[in-house]
Amino acid sequence: MPLEKLALNTSISKVPLIGPAYARRMENLEIRTVSDLLYHLPSRFDDFSLLAKANSLQEGETVTIFGTVLSIKNIFTRNGFMLQQAEVEDDSGTCEVMWFNQRFITSVIKRGDRVSLSGKVGRSSKSKVQLQNPAFEVLHPGQKPIHTGRLVPIYPETQGISSKWLRSRINKVLELITSGNLEIKEFLDTDVLQENHLMGLQEALFQVHFPDSLERAAKAKERLAFNELLLSQLESKRRRQDWQKQTVGSIFKIIEFKEKLDSFVTSLPFELTGAQQKVISEIFSDLGKNTPMNRLLQGDVGSGKTVVAALGMLVAKLNGFQSVLMAPTEILAQQHYLTLTQLFKPLGLGVGIATGSLKDFENYDIIVGTHALLSDKISYKKLGFIVIDEQHRFGVGQRSLLAQKGTNPHILTMTATPIPRTVALTLYGDLDLSVLNEMPKNRLPITTWVVPREKRDKAYEWIVSQKTQAFIVCPLIEQSEAETLQSVKSVKKEYERLLEIFPQMKLGLLHGQMSAKEKDKVLTNFKVGKLDILVTTPVVEVGIDIPGATIMMIEAADRFGLAQLHQLRGRVGRGGRKSYCLLFTENPAPAATARLKFMERLTDGMALAEADLRFRGPGQRFGQAQHGRWNLKIATFDDLALVEKTNVLSQKVLASPELFPLLHNRVTENTILIAQN
Ligand code: ADP
Ligand code: MG
Repeated sequence: MPLEKLALNTSISKVPLIGPAYARRMENLEIRTVSDLLYHLPSRFDDFSLLAKANSLQEGETVTIFGTVLSIKNIFTRNGFMLQQAEVEDDSGTCEVMWFNQRFITSVIKRGDRVSLSGKVGRSSKSKVQLQNPAFEVLHPGQKPIHTGRLVPIYPETQGISSKWLRSRINKVLELITSGNLEIKEFLDTDVLQENHLMGLQEALFQVHFPDSLERAAKAKERLAFNELLLSQLESKRRRQDWQKQTVGSIFKIIEFKEKLDSFVTSLPFELTGAQQKVISEIFSDLGKNTPMNRLLQGDVGSGKTVVAALGMLVAKLNGFQSVLMAPTEILAQQHYLTLTQLFKPLGLGVGIATGSLKDFENYDIIVGTHALLSDKISYKKLGFIVIDEQHRFGVGQRSLLAQKGTNPHILTMTATPIPRTVALTLYGDLDLSVLNEMPKNRLPITTWVVPREKRDKAYEWIVSQKTQAFIVCPLIEQSEAETLQSVKSVKKEYERLLEIFPQMKLGLLHGQMSAKEKDKVLTNFKVGKLDILVTTPVVEVGIDIPGATIMMIEAADRFGLAQLHQLRGRVGRGGRKSYCLLFTENPAPAATARLKFMERLTDGMALAEADLRFRGPGQRFGQAQHGRWNLKIATFDDLALVEKTNVLSQKVLASPELFPLLHNRVTENTILIAQN
């Protein structure tokens, strides 16, 4: 039966030699399509490229021999093991081959088979030179080895899917390319390939799996990384072009309201930082335009993003438009609701909150909420300005869903996560970037201590002696984002225990399984000082603002990423009083403490993110845990040179598409992403 033609987006189960059972297992590796399989790249290579003759094996070398099996049999040792022993002959002579306890081998390799064997040369118990535990494959006439005799790719594996298995299936897909049953279309124009010294796409796909040399493998990977960075940048830049075709419902007036805006700023209990003033003017300049704003505001924890957003909301209100503020959690939404209510009370603005229960928001100036704001049960009268807090928690889809509720409203997204330049260029090319790179002046640096086990009791005494408010954060038990019942149980237990340790203080308990009303009550009590200690899961991580709290104590701190610890630490030190962060760990591993020690030295979010990257090594991609969008598969954000190069090229392509017919085709076919190739 002639083979059905495959496409890159064909389901993996249609590939020869892959049945539904394997297809299901491969989902653990996020391999679902032919393309996913082809782009499942080796993590390293075994170098089996040194060929040797049977009669001249050198002890200690890793070599490959090609030969014919003269004999193969199982041997039982005295202590109950089973060995597989073979004799193999090539044109130089014969040699002995031994496997330990791999019974199946004698049913796979038979006398007379042509085999290729790769492994280490050692000595038998009788001191005879032999090839030990080699990788092997039986070669049929005309067949080239893929598991032996060359640079052999080793892949990320999963239960029931070995590198050997993956290798043979990937080889099958490559054969389909050679035989014309799967088409790989080059989409880089010839001069682009030449100027950038890039390998052709089809060749790169072969060389990245089965390279002639490590240099060729690196070149192949570079080509695929180039693809990925270029296409991501084309995609984000095209989103920008599309965005800029929109026009706003009506252009906001700003100068006209200068007096009102100024008097609002003067009424604040603090002076704006220089960075806040700069960002506010960037936002005002956007708001005065015909095209809707699409701006990302990055500012470290506590840098004062909220008041910047509030000024935008005020402009919207003065122009007769509503604003919404979407936050990732109910607690944070409540918090913003309180802050904005207080800020705007003197001006008589109506602030509403949409959490679980929905009502009619047509008459509010500002509506705060969680993703409940997206519900089509909510109608807005004249939505002109959208603020999204901690934007990485929301998808691009949710953002545009909210935008559709107005007539091309302005959008301001905010994040505390530092965004390296390479990430900004690659993934956020559609957004204008503002940075709050200055902390309010009244901030005292937070002193951080990693507390050893034996000082736990002393630390509790010290907390009592400080006569202040403290957070005690217990970790989530599981590594998932959501709180499980088990985590809640453990935080409750810790709460009971702490009640006895702090009999003279008032304790509150906060976790994600509580109702919005309960959470709100606890937080309000904490905020107004009716509680001294808040025992909580990391639900307080983002945005909570309790100026009176000066101690942040974190249990099992080694289970958190540094960025997350930094977020948590940012919950204190907000009221101008000296604040402290105490990191507890029961993990005796030196590496656990070493990582936490960064928290003692570094106070800046960006520096911590970089330290985390260095510490965890390149296996853990930068920011993976924090940014859903940061999911490069091949390229890395450390490669500034490649990012810059592809950035320049993507600009040229969008500016003069006629110069890049192949690439331009790809862009207009709406198949930018690699997976669709
Ligand atoms: P974040 O950027 O983490 O969202 P917030 O907007 O919650 O920070 O601000 C943190 C705290 O700092 C709030 O209590 C806020 O009122 C206060 N704040 C904001 N700007 C200033 C400033 N310029 N000077 C002093 N305090 C400020
Ligand atoms: Mg905030």
